[in-house]
Amino acid sequence: MKTALSLVLATRNPGKIREFERLFRSLDPETEWRFVGLTDFQVPDVQETGETFAENARQKAVHAAAHTGLVCLGEDSGLEVDYLGGQPGVKSHRFSSSGDDHDNNELLLQRLQGVPRELRTARYRCAISVASPGEVLVSGLGTVEGLIAEEYRGENGFGYDPLFFSLELGKTLGEASDLEKDSVSHRRKALEAILPGLKSRLLQMDSGSKEEGCPC
Ligand code: IMP
Repeated sequence: MKTALSLVLATRNPGKIREFERLFRSLDPETEWRFVGLTDFQVPDVQETGETFAENARQKAVHAAAHTGLVCLGEDSGLEVDYLGGQPGVKSHRFSSSGDDHDNNELLLQRLQGVPRELRTARYRCAISVASPGEVLVSGLGTVEGLIAEEYRGENGFGYDPLFFSLELGKTLGEASDLEKDSVSHRRKALEAILPGLKSRLLQMDSGSKEEGCPC
């Protein structure tokens, strides 16, 4: 029988939730991963005040764990464009004033209008932290390198994916299948970095609570 492990995914972004569920199951098929989203709890929105993805991921995990009393995964990710001095960076989800994906993409195209291919280099970064109430258990980072395309290509993925041309795949992430995106993504790399440590901490906590006679 598979070992079952539970985790709260501390995000309300459906695109990220879909990717995490897929990634956990493909990277660790021998565990039965069970996920709950933040919508199942009364957790106030966290203020993202960090200057780095890592700080924000940590804040999200710690905040959600304090409010739910459970082990929570916090994630922060975004796009860095070299020609824009690393923007939109930690402000990726609110690059345009509306924060809508389409408006963010339009603004990006506008800012890079006329910029030649060799200067359109960019990367996605992802930081993940997992916390229990009062303790950060594990943290990790992942990146994927690419170029900002001159026009939209493909309708898969979310956010900036139709404009993010992956150098490894030779296509935009909007054109890539789920499997292709997962094979190169910043989220996959960050998850791979924490998975062994996360599993061993969760298994330790599980056996600790059984020894104390916890009925859960
Ligand atoms: P966060 O919810 O503050 O982490 O916002 C991250 C933002 O970065 C998202 O709303 C997207 O705009 C962008 N982003 C992060 N990861 C991806 C991805 O895998 N594909 C497309 N856009 C992404």
